[in-house]
Amino acid sequence: MTQLRISGLTASVDGHEILRGIDLEVESGRVDVIMGPNGSGKSTLANVIMGHPAYEVTGGDITLDGESLVGTATHERASRGLFHAMQYPTEVAGVRLAPMLAEAFAAGHLVGGVPHDDVGRRIEALTQDENLGVLAITHYARLLDELQPDRIHVLLGGRIVKSGGPELARELEETGYEGIAEEFGIQLADDEPGAAGREAGKGVAMDVEGPMTESALDF
Ligand code: ADP
Ligand code: MG
Repeated sequence: MTQLRISGLTASVDGHEILRGIDLEVESGRVDVIMGPNGSGKSTLANVIMGHPAYEVTGGDITLDGESLVGTATHERASRGLFHAMQYPTEVAGVRLAPMLAEAFAAGHLVGGVPHDDVGRRIEALTQDENLGVLAITHYARLLDELQPDRIHVLLGGRIVKSGGPELARELEETGYEGIAEEFGIQLADDEPGAAGREAGKGVAMDVEGPMTESALDF
């Protein structure tokens, strides 16, 4: 079993602290999902886990099977089995995450021993048969229909404020992030779609600005 453990993680970009103490454990064979509104720090977290040089880890640790990844180069993390898949906004409507990951496997980008004949199988099958672990980062609730997550974590203001089972995603899909933001005294970004987006059946929100609407980290 492989375990990605994030503990007390704080990180900044351009001198601005964005992640304010993230604790999270993800294991192979499991699908964890991080959801959060625009500006909550989702892309920052993905970038920090992968070691993007623009982001500075200012505290805490990220370990893979007990060994720290902090300070290591992205290719080193990849060689240890971390893979970062991104899905771009224009592809959201038509492209599903699972086949995209399968293509990435086929292209040989996944280091960590997933055979190429896994191609085309769904992520949940991969998590069972190949013991793949997935940390999917999204605010696109419909992703959850295909991923069948084990755990949902809500990121707000650079912190995970709530964790729960798949029902938490359903709840957020219905209520949006306003209630939970109010509960934790966090101001949502102005461009956060509210009820209108939900009425249109778009789930919680669509990130049309950011570079990554959906991303997943496998290990
Ligand atoms: P998300 O992916 O959840 O929308 P991001 O990780 O992109 O959130 O951004 C989190 C916060 O960090 C936002 O408030 C954003 O304005 C801020 N931020 C992101 N990049 C920079 C940067 N280069 N300089 C200053 N602030 C930034
Ligand atoms: Mg983002």
